Amino acid sequence: MCHIDTKERFILQQISITENPNKKDKPNDNALQFGKTFTDHMFIMDYDKEIGWHDARVVPYQPLAMDPASMVFHYGQTVFEGLKAYRTDRGDVQLFRPTENIARLNRSNARMCIPEIDADTALKGIQTLVDIDRDWVPHLEGTSLYIRPFVIATEAYLGVAPASKYAFMVILSPVGAYYDAGINPVKIAVENEYIRAVKGGTGEAKTAGNYAGSMAAQEKVAALGYAQVLWLDGHEKKYIEEVGSMNIFFKINGKVITPHLSGSILPGVTRKSVIQLLNDWGIAVEERPIALTEVLEASRKGELEEAFGAGTAAVISPIGELFADGESYIINNHKTGDLSKRVYETLTGIQYGRIEDPHQWIVRV
Ligand SMILES: *Cc1c(COP(=O)(O)O)cnc(C)c1O
Repeated sequence: MCHIDTKERFILQQISITENPNKKDKPNDNALQFGKTFTDHMFIMDYDKEIGWHDARVVPYQPLAMDPASMVFHYGQTVFEGLKAYRTDRGDVQLFRPTENIARLNRSNARMCIPEIDADTALKGIQTLVDIDRDWVPHLEGTSLYIRPFVIATEAYLGVAPASKYAFMVILSPVGAYYDAGINPVKIAVENEYIRAVKGGTGEAKTAGNYAGSMAAQEKVAALGYAQVLWLDGHEKKYIEEVGSMNIFFKINGKVITPHLSGSILPGVTRKSVIQLLNDWGIAVEERPIALTEVLEASRKGELEEAFGAGTAAVISPIGELFADGESYIINNHKTGDLSKRVYETLTGIQYGRIEDPHQWIVRV
C-alpha cells in the first residue's frame, strides 16, 4: 500500500514522565459535558523517517506549537481512536478492549500512509497516562474517562505525499453519563443526498475527513428534528451502512442482522462485542447487505422488532423512529426493546466490572 519503513515497530519504548506542577480543578461528576474538559497530562510520541517512533512521553496537557505548513492542516493525513476508562464499584480503573482500538488505529494508519505504531508502546502509553490522571476518572454511575488517541502529520511541506514526520498523542476527557434519564430511543432519518463513504475510499478508517464530510447531512437531519443520519451505501444508495458514528443492528422477525463490513463501514469494537455477546446467548447474527427496502417492508409487516446503534459513546442507542422517503416508521412503539436493553446492561456491566468478563475484554490500569 504505502512505502513505510516499519523497522522500529516491535520496539517497546520507555515512557518518560513529566508531572504537571499546576493541577487543574476537576469538574463535578454531575456537570460533565462530552469532550470539553481535559485532564492534567497528555501522551506524545514523535516519528521521524530516519529514526522511527521515538521519545514516548507523558507531559503536562498543553497547546501545541505547530508550523502552519504542517501537512495535517492541508491534506488531512490524520487518524484517531476513541475508547474509555471506567471506574468500578471497588474504585479500580479499567479499559475495555484497548488492543482492538490500537489494532484499528494501525489499520487506519496503513490506509492513510501513516507509519505503524508499536501496539505495546501504544497500550503502555494509554495505561501510563490514565494511571497518572486516574483521579480524573469520574465516580458517578454511567460516567467515564474518554480516551482520544490520534496521529497527525507534522512535517512542514506543501507537497501532496505522505509526511516524513508525525506525532502520536493521547488526550483524556471525563465524560458524563450518555443517558441521563435512562436509555432512550432516538429518531433517525435516512440520508439520500450525501454519502459518507464508498468502497475503496476511507470509510473503514477513523480519519478526520470522513467526519468533516458528514456534518452537512447531520445538520440537515438535525434541523428536521432527527438525532442521527442513517447512511446508505455510496454506490447504489440502496443498502444500509451506519447510523451517525455508530454501527447498526436490526431485529426482524426474531433474527438479528447487521450490515457486513463492506469496505466502507467503520468496524466498531462495540459492533464486534455485540455480535460476540449475542453468539454467547445462542443468537446468531447475520452479517450481510441489508437493503433499506427490506427494513421498511419488515416495518410495514410489523416484523421490525428492534433497531439500535452501537458505538463506544452511547454503547447502545435504541432507534424508536426511522424517517425514510417521506414516511415515518415507528419501531417498538418508541420503546427500548428487550434485546437492546439486555445487550446494553451486559456490555456496561462488563465495562464497569459489575458482571463477569467472559472474554478477557477488560484491561486493568
Ligand atoms: C468510531 C465509529 C464507530 C463505532 O466504533 P466503536 O469502536 O464501537 O466505538 C462506528 N462508526 C463510525 C463511523 C465511527 O467513527
